[in-house]
Amino acid sequence: MSQPKRIKLESGGGGEGGGATEGEDGGQRETALLRPRRTRRERDQMYYECYSDIGVHEEMIADRVRTDAYRLGIMRNWAALRDKTVLDVGAGTGILSIFCAQAGARRVYAVEASSIWQKALEVVRLNRLEDRVHILPGPVETVELPEQVDVIVSEWMGYGLLHESMLSSVLHARAKWLKEGGLLLPASAELFLAPISDHTLELRLGFWSQVKQIYGVDMSCLEGFATRCIMGHSEILVQDLCGEDVLARPQCFAQLELARAGLEQELEAGVGGRFRFSCYGSAPLHGFAIWFQVTFPKGDSEKPVVLSTSPFQPVTHWKQALLYLNEPVQVEQDTDISGEITLLPARDNHRLLRAQLRYKVGDQEEKTKDFTMEDGHFFLSQRPPPVARAVC
Ligand code: SAH
Repeated sequence: MSQPKRIKLESGGGGEGGGATEGEDGGQRETALLRPRRTRRERDQMYYECYSDIGVHEEMIADRVRTDAYRLGIMRNWAALRDKTVLDVGAGTGILSIFCAQAGARRVYAVEASSIWQKALEVVRLNRLEDRVHILPGPVETVELPEQVDVIVSEWMGYGLLHESMLSSVLHARAKWLKEGGLLLPASAELFLAPISDHTLELRLGFWSQVKQIYGVDMSCLEGFATRCIMGHSEILVQDLCGEDVLARPQCFAQLELARAGLEQELEAGVGGRFRFSCYGSAPLHGFAIWFQVTFPKGDSEKPVVLSTSPFQPVTHWKQALLYLNEPVQVEQDTDISGEITLLPARDNHRLLRAQLRYKVGDQEEKTKDFTMEDGHFFLSQRPPPVARAVC
């Protein structure tokens, strides 16, 4: 499958989101000023259009870790679903709605804002479930349901969990359509952070010192330039790491209970927390990795189903979200890394993920860096396909 295409969009880069205090924003601020500002409605429309193509749905359904976890999470809750009503927020091609019907739901309202709802209708008919799965086209914020529901199911997670800001639509639906004490599938999400030494990046930076051995031309003077080009930007990158790239015991920095009152305001203000790591050993620190997991209610099982995007688990199409420092910092065993991380929507586009990082390595002075999701990852049909994990 093809690699993600790099499409520029009107995000205004990291600079717009508060300014990269350490680095340059490469003139993005200037070009952003020349672009007409889009309304929130127009941005939402563009966002839904990203889901009208087959590519993104193929990628999600082909992600076995994701789709099997949802299937199992739904089936294990069969007792809560049997003869009950369900709202599927963002039904896409309808697969989660059909899982719920297969688990025994009496009626599933499959709400989908993009034109892919037409394909969901075909899939529902092919599976002879049109009497139980009702496709409702339109944003969940405006669609009218004939009744309150017992269960909400949704696959709302973006890169770094909160890219796309779809969780706020789920929370809106919860407030409007979920019965008191109703079930949310999944019910909670946790965000994790770890310092990393990215072995792929290390190979790329070290490449310029190898050229002499290959071609007899010394190009080692380009390593500093390569470092600035590859690390000195303020984009959140989506890449899959190996467990070996993780430099200290990961920490959970935010826990989101989807039933929690006030969660929507928390998301607007920014979720995050302080961190403190003690390094395992000697390595160049390149930055931090963010990943997440979501947890389904236990249902009839001992242990809940957990969908994890950890670098220690099989790879998913979400991979991990990386925040690179401007240059590598050498750490040793027990080097202390502390600071604070906050995830919030970008100022000029609420769908784009922004990350504010404050960090201190050993006895170096404290630094800050502000990031926004890399451009190509707004257009979701450019989500990179799930690939086999690279051998470390
Ligand atoms: N449930 C499907 C698709 C998940 S992707 C699956 O698991 O395969 C998320 C879907 O939610 C996309 O199809 C997107 O168009 C839709 N969506 C996002 N925000 C929405 C909203 N506010 N109202 C309705 N649909 C929405």
